[in-house]
Amino acid sequence: MIGAVDIGGTKIAVGIVDDGGRVVRRAEAPTEAERGYAVGISKIAKMLREALRETGAAVRGIGIGSTGMLDPIRGEWLDVDFLPGWEHKSPVQDLSREFGVRVAMENDGDAGALAEAYWGAGKGKSRMVYVTIGTGIGGGIILDGHLYRGVAGSHPEFGHHVMEASGPECTCGLRGCWEALAAGCSMEKWYQEHCPAEDQNGKVVTARGICDLARKGNGFAKQAVEREGTYLGLGLANLIGMFVPDVIVLGGGMMQSADLYLGKIREVIRSGCRFVPAEKTQIALASLGEDANLIGAAMAWRHRYEQETFAAG
Ligand SMILES: [Zn+2]
Repeated sequence: MIGAVDIGGTKIAVGIVDDGGRVVRRAEAPTEAERGYAVGISKIAKMLREALRETGAAVRGIGIGSTGMLDPIRGEWLDVDFLPGWEHKSPVQDLSREFGVRVAMENDGDAGALAEAYWGAGKGKSRMVYVTIGTGIGGGIILDGHLYRGVAGSHPEFGHHVMEASGPECTCGLRGCWEALAAGCSMEKWYQEHCPAEDQNGKVVTARGICDLARKGNGFAKQAVEREGTYLGLGLANLIGMFVPDVIVLGGGMMQSADLYLGKIREVIRSGCRFVPAEKTQIALASLGEDANLIGAAMAWRHRYEQETFAAG
């Protein structure tokens, strides 16, 4: 059994994950980052202790997946927008002291990638790119069976590759990033700007709502979906051009309506990528659902300390 912690800007989930990748116990609480790190870490420790008591299990390690920029080797946060005041705090050291086991922390996109590579849609593949499309675009890269890391253990942010130099401003400092064009809020913004105000009845329509309208035949919603599929396809074509992986696994809230986008995505990829065998790269949907991040946190620990790697494809 491995203890698993998933730290996001709005909620923290804690669980116990068995060696088959099943979450046998799970608890959740709001992050309340503004109350400070000390409150946050004692809440995590308390939730873990309760989960352990309920299962009667002993854990051999604890894995953490977290939002934000972090140093996975030192096990501390760097610049974390969503967790103000948590910079340079080390949950790895603190939980290790508290529970007497080794602790590993990874960016949550990397943790999700590890989970899908080992137990999910990337199983059996050694070159995988995992992409989550929700309010932002993130993910992780598995190359030759290992998690890819940049300099100093850094996590690459392919959601911020630029597609349109004069596109909308992005939080990263550039314009026209994939995330700024294809994340859920970009689709919502496009719809608000293009659909006549009287059709919107003063209501903000979510990406999910736009998809429902598109299914009912609403013209503007169908255009928004078409635009979304195009930008998703372009970003994925770029990833195929750069990595030509065995598989790209798509997850995140936007993929709950994947059936609306996949046709366009495949069309865009087919129309380009002529210089690589793009048809050999499988486009698959993530298969672990909402437990992916907790399973990924546990997998991050196994990848780090038990040298678990992924089958050569
Ligand atoms: Zn950006």
